[in-house]
Amino acid sequence: FDMFVLAFVERLFRTTYRKDDFVLGKKLGEGAFGVVYRASLAKKPSSKNDGDLVLKKATEYGAVEIWMNERVRRACANCCADFVYGFFENSSKKGGEYWLIWRYEGEATLADLMISREFPYNVQTLILGEVQDLPKGIERENRIIQTIMSQLLFALDGLHSTGIVHRDIKPQNVIFSEGSRTFKIIDLGAAADLRVGINYIPKEFLLDPRYAAPEQYIMSTQTPSAPSAPVATALSPVLWQLNLPDRFDIYSAGLIFLQMAFPGLRTDSGLIQFNRQLKRCDYDLSAWRKTVEPRASPDLRKGFQLLDIDGGTGWELLTSMVRYKARQRISAKTALAHPYFDREGLLALSFMQ
Ligand code: ADP
Ligand code: MG
Repeated sequence: FDMFVLAFVERLFRTTYRKDDFVLGKKLGEGAFGVVYRASLAKKPSSKNDGDLVLKKATEYGAVEIWMNERVRRACANCCADFVYGFFENSSKKGGEYWLIWRYEGEATLADLMISREFPYNVQTLILGEVQDLPKGIERENRIIQTIMSQLLFALDGLHSTGIVHRDIKPQNVIFSEGSRTFKIIDLGAAADLRVGINYIPKEFLLDPRYAAPEQYIMSTQTPSAPSAPVATALSPVLWQLNLPDRFDIYSAGLIFLQMAFPGLRTDSGLIQFNRQLKRCDYDLSAWRKTVEPRASPDLRKGFQLLDIDGGTGWELLTSMVRYKARQRISAKTALAHPYFDREGLLALSFMQ
């Protein structure tokens, strides 16, 4: 079945919405390019004040974000938050804005969960439900972190296989979906779709320096700059092979892995300090380990201990994600087959009950 026919038929039969169809609730976030609210349909206001939808009012870059979400919904629906609809709203004085609607997935991002003293046990509770009374300890922490990493890599593999690079992977953009009890990716506002040449980053958009890989641009400078409209040329798979732009996300995901293993790196200041140290070690994680381990705090020692479980498969995976050269980083698909995940403990945690 042709993808374009499918898309057309889908458009024809889908409900369309306008501004007045929505009632806005609590503000969930505000960035340089948009504001995010909880919302509900005016026709069926939810019993509580909080709606079951999320609405982003975005500036001119919202057009790209709508495109990305439409594509993700068709190609890898479970990777990202469930997108409902996107449209241009003309009425505003400032030349209009884009409205994007998703289903409300849940209240906690990975950032919220990671900053809690209960992490990672709070995630175990979310995945398994309240009734668990399992022994705590480093082995169990490792199982939970494995499960989170496998879900994150699964979602990333879905995006990358679709031809999309996210470019803003960070705990704030990973949400726990209460419905599916899994983590999903959100915020495709900086994403690039390399299959059709949409690779648009506005000049004033800064990649988050805390999570960005050392290469500033994910495509080589020879790549023509972004066309403003979808150009249906097969820019990809060759360019993809040459530049491996997906490895930009892998670096960011590696930093999330690192933060989960080392509590001290979960704060902004901890992560910024780590980034400085790693740069001084020429982005060589093993060199970093050699410099910090001899006089490691209990916190750092615990992280190394966790990553050294099972013959150090965790450490091995981490070091194959956080590397200076993009082409030396592991892909999401290959990472999912890494021995780190090859344990029955992972399955037990995901599918118990
Ligand atoms: P921003 O451009 O402001 O970073 P995001 O798309 O990341 O916009 O959304 C901002 C915040 O809104 C997220 O960090 C999250 O807390 C919340 N959020 C976004 N999408 C959803 C969703 N589908 N379900 C629940 N919360 C969401
Ligand atoms: Mg965000």
